[in-house]
Amino acid sequence: MKMLLNGQWVDREEKIEVTDPYDNSVIDTVPSASLDDVETALASAVKGFETTRRMTVYDRAQILYKTAEIISDRLDEFAITIAREGSKTIREARKEASRCVNTITCSAEESKRILGETIPWDSFPGGEKRRGYYYRFPIGVVLAITPFNDPLNLVAHKLGPAIAAGNSVILKPASVTPLSAIKLVEAMLEAGLPENAIQVITGIGSKIGDPLVSDERVRMISFTGGVEAGKHIASKAGIKKIGMELGSDSPVIVWKDADLALAVESCVSGSFWAAGQNCIGVQRLLIHRDIYDEFKTHFVELTNKYKIGDKMKEETDMGPMITEAEAKRVESWVNEAVSKGAKVLTGGTRTGALYAPTVLEHVPPDAAVHCEEVFGPTVNLYPVDDLDKAIAEANSLPYGLLAAIFTSNVDVAFKAAYELDCGGVMINDSTDYRLDSMPFGGVKYSGLGREGLKFSLQEMTEPKVVCFNLPNM
Ligand code: NAP
Repeated sequence: MKMLLNGQWVDREEKIEVTDPYDNSVIDTVPSASLDDVETALASAVKGFETTRRMTVYDRAQILYKTAEIISDRLDEFAITIAREGSKTIREARKEASRCVNTITCSAEESKRILGETIPWDSFPGGEKRRGYYYRFPIGVVLAITPFNDPLNLVAHKLGPAIAAGNSVILKPASVTPLSAIKLVEAMLEAGLPENAIQVITGIGSKIGDPLVSDERVRMISFTGGVEAGKHIASKAGIKKIGMELGSDSPVIVWKDADLALAVESCVSGSFWAAGQNCIGVQRLLIHRDIYDEFKTHFVELTNKYKIGDKMKEETDMGPMITEAEAKRVESWVNEAVSKGAKVLTGGTRTGALYAPTVLEHVPPDAAVHCEEVFGPTVNLYPVDDLDKAIAEANSLPYGLLAAIFTSNVDVAFKAAYELDCGGVMINDSTDYRLDSMPFGGVKYSGLGREGLKFSLQEMTEPKVVCFNLPNM
C-alpha cells in the first residue's frame, strides 16, 4: 500500500514489510518515509487546515457518517486486514471493525455538540455594557501517532474526532500494522474528505518522529503507545497540546462475595484478549483469600480450554504476539519471575510468536511481570485479606488506566470506586471493558487527557471568546 501526501498516494523505494506474525509471510509493504516526506506532510496539512476549518459541521458529519457506512459494508474486509497484519483472531478483529463503525458514527454525532456558552460579563464591575460568548474552534494540525494493538479502532479514535472538530491530521500509524489505518483513510476519502485534510506518513517512529513531533506547525499531538515513546515525544514536543494514552498494569480485585463464575469468565477473557496486548488487559488479580483456591482452580481450568494458533480460524481463541521478539521478551520475564520464586500454574511455553496463556502465583514484587506493563498473555494471582490493603496494592504501581472489582456489596464497590487511583473503575467487569464514547484515559504514567469522542473533541478544539462592548446599550 502507499502513503498519502499532498493528496497523492505515493510510494518510495525504501519499504517497510508488513508481515503476518503467525507464519511470518509478507502481506504487503508500505513506503518508509524520508525527512523530505515529513516536510511535505507538514506543509500539506497546513494547507489542509485552511479547508477543514471552513467546512460546515453538516459537511464534516456527513463525511463521517458515510465513512462509517463504507466500513460497515466492508466489515469482513477490514476484519481480515486487522487479523492478518496484527495479533488478533478473526473473531476479535470483527469486533474491532464493528467498534470502529461506532467510533466514527459517534464522532459525527459529537460534531453537532461542539457548544459554547454566554459569559456573565456583568459579574464584575465594569462589565455592565458587555455581551458575548465563547465558541470552540478547531485546534489546527493534529499529529496522530498510533500503536499496533488495535490497528483500526485506535486510529478511528483520533481521525474521527479530529475531522469532526474541523482539524487537519497527519497520521503516523504503527510500522508493524499500517494497513488497517490506510484502509480507514481510503474510506474517508471515498466518503468525500477533501484533499489535504489528511496525510498518512508511514515510517519508523525513531526516524521520522522527532521532526514531526517538534514542528511548530503541529498544534496537537495525539499519541497512543508505550510510556518510553511517550516520554520521548513529550521531551521533544515544545509548546503544543499533548494527549497521551499510555500503558498500564491493570489490577482487578475479586472480593469474597463476588459472582465467581462471572469473575472467572470475565478475567480470563480480559487477560488473554489480543494475546494480552491490550492496554486494559488484566495483569494483576487480587483475590480474597476465602475464595482464592476455588477461583484459581476455575481460572486455570478455563485458561486451559483456550485454543491458540491460527488467527484466521473461527475456533481460535488467541493468536500470536505481534513478533517473536515480543514473545521472547515475555518468556524471559516469566523465567525471571520463576527464578525469583513465582509458580507457573499453566502456560509458560512459547512456539515462535505464540506464547501460551500463562497464569502465575507467588510472584515477587520485584519481578518485571509484577512491576512493569507485561503487554502479553500472562496474569498474576495474589491472595488478599483486607480491602484497604488490596486497594493500596492496586494503587502501588506508577500506572492508573482502568481498575476493576467484583463484588455484590455496594459499600465495597463504592469504596473501591472512590479509592482506586485511575481513569475508570469497572464493577463486576474486568478492566477489559471500554465503551468507545466513555471518557477514556489514565492517571500517573497511564496518560494525559482523555479520549472518547465527546472528550477527544474537547481536547481537539480550543475556546475562543467573543466580547461586544456596547457603550450605547
Ligand atoms: P510504541 O512502541 O510506543 O509505538 C506507538 C507508536 O509510536 C508507533 O506508531 C511508533 O512508531 C511510534 N513511535 C515510537 N517511537 C517514536 C518516536 N520517537 N517519535 C514518534 N513516534 C514514535 O507502542 P506499541 O508497541 O505500538 O503499543 C503498545 C503500547 O501502547 C503499550 O504500552 C500499550 O499499553 C499502549 N497502548 C495504550 C492505549 C491506551 O489507550 N491507553 C491503547 C493501546 C495501546 P513505530 O511503529 O514506527 O515504531
